[in-house]
Amino acid sequence: MNKPKINRPEDCQPAHALWFDRKKYVTVNFMVQKPKDVQVDIQPDKMIICCKNDTDDVFYNELHFFDTVQINDSRHRVYDRTINMLLRKMKPDYAWPRLQKDPARPSWISVDFDNWRDWEHEEDEGKEEFDRYMDMIQEMSSNNKGATPDMGDLSDFVTSVVSCCPAELKQEVNGKKETLKGFNVKLQDTILFPEGGGQPDDHGLIGEVPVLRVTRQGPDALHFVASPLEVGQEARLKVDWERRFDHMQQHSGQHLITALADTMFGYKTTSWELGRQRSAIELDTPSVKPAQLKELEDAVNEKIRAQVPVHVQLLSIDDPAVEKVFMLSVRSRGLPDDHAGPIRIIDIEGVDANMCCGTHVSNLSHLQVIKLLGTEKGKKNKTNLIFLAGNRVLKYAEKSYSTERSLVSLLKTGPDEHVEAVDKLQKSVKLLQKTNLSLLRDMAVLIAQNFKSDPQRGNFFSLHKKEGDNEFMNIIANEVNTEETLLFLTVGEEKGPGLFLLAGPSGLVTEMGPRVLELLQGKGAGKNGRFQGKANSLARRAEVEALLSQHCKHRSSEEK
Ligand SMILES: [Zn+2]
Repeated sequence: MNKPKINRPEDCQPAHALWFDRKKYVTVNFMVQKPKDVQVDIQPDKMIICCKNDTDDVFYNELHFFDTVQINDSRHRVYDRTINMLLRKMKPDYAWPRLQKDPARPSWISVDFDNWRDWEHEEDEGKEEFDRYMDMIQEMSSNNKGATPDMGDLSDFVTSVVSCCPAELKQEVNGKKETLKGFNVKLQDTILFPEGGGQPDDHGLIGEVPVLRVTRQGPDALHFVASPLEVGQEARLKVDWERRFDHMQQHSGQHLITALADTMFGYKTTSWELGRQRSAIELDTPSVKPAQLKELEDAVNEKIRAQVPVHVQLLSIDDPAVEKVFMLSVRSRGLPDDHAGPIRIIDIEGVDANMCCGTHVSNLSHLQVIKLLGTEKGKKNKTNLIFLAGNRVLKYAEKSYSTERSLVSLLKTGPDEHVEAVDKLQKSVKLLQKTNLSLLRDMAVLIAQNFKSDPQRGNFFSLHKKEGDNEFMNIIANEVNTEETLLFLTVGEEKGPGLFLLAGPSGLVTEMGPRVLELLQGKGAGKNGRFQGKANSLARRAEVEALLSQHCKHRSSEEK
């Protein structure tokens, strides 16, 4: 082996390393953001790794193994946030109590407890496990489709169009359902996250063409676009980063709340929903006490302040570690039937490891803050916990403050008195309404009596009053003898919508009702001498009045 010697750079720091051992091999994962210029030298008794991260910090680790390794069967792979080492032990089935020969424990080494198992009692020969790991590494290098990229600079990603088929997109715009005609595009690879695991899809651009929806189909993602793309053409992808980051904050926030609700109170999460305004976690408990809510919120934000790292691990579907996650986390919903490729484990260091296909922040500090807004009664004796994470908290505060300012100027009181002021207002409005109604009733009676006592009264009476209701009209109709008088009453806007009542001799009402309805563009029905309903417009009220009055005169002259 004639590798160039790696020299320790002047200004460098060690990368954090997570390790665990199995019967036949040892795994060491060096945590580096977007590693570049990676140099690795693995020797039987030691290894050196040197690289830079996305902000050009230089990392250098030199470690002397606890025992020797077979260099020809050892390898490394560079990922987005880690450099993973797989080291074949020279002496199989020989447990390493620590990674290094030196018993001193450097601060940059820690045990990957999520993968740490007591393999002394394992039936597995170990070789199988090793082979699976190798297969997985091979598979991951050749087929990376469907795997979701992590947070990073996703502003420019170039791939090509594999297929483009006519398709329809059903969506809701302002509460109205509509079907959009367009195309589903498959790409060689993608950076846009398809819907799944409770997380909504990414939006973005293919070139200049907006991607309106991304869905999953087996290992592929389908990108819905309005105009067709040519198969084979280059596709420059852009992700709507603000939307993506918002989803990451809510989703990682959910994992954190879910984990702590379980460890602190034993409340299991049964499902969750990332909403457009707020998100909800369904907890398997009939209620959450306000004090528990406060305690949970404090604990969640404490983890954010502690800047706990979040790792994404890709494991082969038959890796025993996957089963462990399944067993430990009852909340894992299981895999979709059409799942393909490796399994992703989202590991909030020391808090939670959970299988998830969603996009997550790489450190809890990126969540900024989590606000638990409260709880609502869920279905089947469950409780929905409503929360906001990250920028949503800021937006919510901004909106609340602006509402508060408006209320201060409307109610002429400070925010602390708002509830009291509105309560007072509501009570006085109710009282006024009550008084108003009773006055209106009295007035209806007086109007009817006034008409009855008029010796000059004819057999037709018409009245319009802006303020009034059905009761007002019916009281008048009850007071006046409608066996001999035709009543036409309306309430509402003079030229706008309103209510009407036609009452009188039943034959006459049945005859004239439909004409009235037509002139008032109304809806209504009648029986027993009353015909009433809603008028779309009272603009032609005068015409109705003239028509009815004419009709009554005609009738009375006939009777004489
Ligand atoms: Zn998840």
